[in-house]
Amino acid sequence: MHPDPSRAGDGTRCVHGGHVAAALGAPLHPGPVLSSTFELGVPGDPAPADFYGRADNPTWRALEAAIGALDGGRCVAFASGMAAIGAVLRLGATGGALVVPADGYYLARSLAHAELAPLGVEVREVPTNGDWAAAMDGAGLVLLETPSNPGLDVVDIAAVAALAHAAGALLAVDNTTATPLGQVPLDLGADLTVASDTKALAGHGDVVLGHVTARDPALLARLREARSRGGAVPGPMEAWLAHRGLATLDLRLARQAENARAVAELALAHPAASDVRWPGLAGDPAHAVAAAQMRRWNGVLRFTLASEQAVAAFLKTSNLVGSATSFGGPRSTVDRRERWGDAVDPALLRFSAGCEDTADLVADVRAALDAAAGA
Ligand SMILES: *Cc1c(COP(=O)(O)O)cnc(C)c1O
Repeated sequence: MHPDPSRAGDGTRCVHGGHVAAALGAPLHPGPVLSSTFELGVPGDPAPADFYGRADNPTWRALEAAIGALDGGRCVAFASGMAAIGAVLRLGATGGALVVPADGYYLARSLAHAELAPLGVEVREVPTNGDWAAAMDGAGLVLLETPSNPGLDVVDIAAVAALAHAAGALLAVDNTTATPLGQVPLDLGADLTVASDTKALAGHGDVVLGHVTARDPALLARLREARSRGGAVPGPMEAWLAHRGLATLDLRLARQAENARAVAELALAHPAASDVRWPGLAGDPAHAVAAAQMRRWNGVLRFTLASEQAVAAFLKTSNLVGSATSFGGPRSTVDRRERWGDAVDPALLRFSAGCEDTADLVADVRAALDAAAGA
């Protein structure tokens, strides 16, 4: 590691984060600590760090150390992205209205409307590229999702942080699509970073997990208490798998971004696709703001085909692109978001570029788009 760990490169930080020097003969790659209960000693012994598996766990702490270092704060791991978002929205709801993205992850909105609004919490929705200033009066918490999903719009985090703080509200940013390597919301003024690590962070499509990262010790204490009370705790095996997956995030993200650029450029030039969005494209409407606040790109893009029949032809022709929800995994997939209730065209595809060789993926997607054009 670089003598100043915060100045080491992305690959180094992903590989070494959360690992401590092993004692002589100790495993270099320790496994998950599965025990739900821990030795408490006798009266007079100091309180141990671990006592019960819902309160804390050494495998969580290793993952939290790794993610926290990348996010620039202290991390609290949760059982899923939604468990993390739920903890953040409940925390924010004690301070005033909740302001959530109208075009962000649908269950974040649904949780606010279905569970918090009936308790008297005011819920406001603003599109990612909408007028955030107009929604600030009396806000307790503002949640951004940038880049938004599946629209891939981008909002200036620092500008909204200033608005939120002037109104006395906390700012949380759903950083799932960007990943901690792609964007550091806490450096841009956010109070909380929240993410689904089910996606690119764990990165292999075999784990459901989430986290919140913050700097303020009082917020962190409230989040840890909320996790213990709510019980939405990560399994040690999931935390361990996510930590293992994180080691290659830098490598995976590099290939995924390279593939996303190639697929976006292919789609832009192909008559079967319209409405292509990827913030990394110089001509994308979100490019300037994204380039100013993001550190690097990722594998998530979108385009729209002519019809659901065209989507069927695309999927039947492709040998490499799977039909699945979620994103950020090693294999390329597309998700037709309208099926989940997103207010988008039924033939809009969110494309998650995987780690295939770029030339192979481009040839495969070109054939699939050709078939879509003929459908
Ligand atoms: C998937 C996702 C979530 C929810 O995360 P889970 O791990 O599935 O609970 C939240 N926000 C975004 C942007 C997501 O993509």
